[in-house]
Amino acid sequence: MPPSPPWALPPGRLAILSALVDEQRGLIDHLQQAQKVAHAGRNFWLGTLDGVPVVLTVSRIGKVAAASTATLLIERFGASAIVFTGVAGGLAPGVKVGDVVVAQGFLQHDLDASPLFPRYEVPAYGRSRFECHAALSQQLAESVQAALAEGWPAAHLHCGLVASGDRFVCGAEESRQLQERLREAGHEALAVEMEGAAVAQVCADHGLPFAAMRTISDRADDTAHQDFTQFVQTVASRYAERIMRRLLQRMGAQH
Ligand code: SAH
Repeated sequence: MPPSPPWALPPGRLAILSALVDEQRGLIDHLQQAQKVAHAGRNFWLGTLDGVPVVLTVSRIGKVAAASTATLLIERFGASAIVFTGVAGGLAPGVKVGDVVVAQGFLQHDLDASPLFPRYEVPAYGRSRFECHAALSQQLAESVQAALAEGWPAAHLHCGLVASGDRFVCGAEESRQLQERLREAGHEALAVEMEGAAVAQVCADHGLPFAAMRTISDRADDTAHQDFTQFVQTVASRYAERIMRRLLQRMGAQH
């Protein structure tokens, strides 16, 4: 991958958002001038990490929780960009447990206002896909690649579309049908999760850069629920810490 052009964070704080505590475990421990603010049932951690002003928080699971938290990050905590770090189920062949997906864009696989609107299209937006910020995503992808090369050389980075919906997909047949329906509408999704498209839409509303990485915790098949919990605790949390610190160090160098 060629080195990315320098991209400076807009003035404000970089928000680091996850659905589950384990998906960003470790980062809070390194926070300097840490300040915890409890609001709307969540804890928001303000401070600096590797020289970058940040706000860290956990949305909890699902699109509504994610949209509500993203809005708070922007409106109340001065976020000027949001990076999501979490886990997802692998959909496309070759997207394996332990790999990492950096999203280029998101769609809601459970949004269907047909026949009024084409399936997956978000009414009044005239589109089903919300793109991630190219330069921030490139920085994130380079951070993933460097961290994987150092710590997990067998893992691969994939970049592409991620599908979100309010459902934990845990069946081989369900996963196959989901991919097939998306493909019929012209969408090739690499992974499935439950928050990203909501955050992408909120960021689009506010004109804020958004990027997301998802470590593949399961294959969205019949054993997904068994693989999931242990993986998040033992593997994904370490990936997140290493990758996000690398991203912050790049950004801190530009501050
Ligand atoms: N066992 C957890 C629940 C996890 S729900 C608990 O008890 O809290 C799954 C979370 O991981 C969601 O935040 C979602 O974004 C992501 N995820 C991982 N694999 C997924 C899959 N196969 N389908 C949907 N979401 C998945």
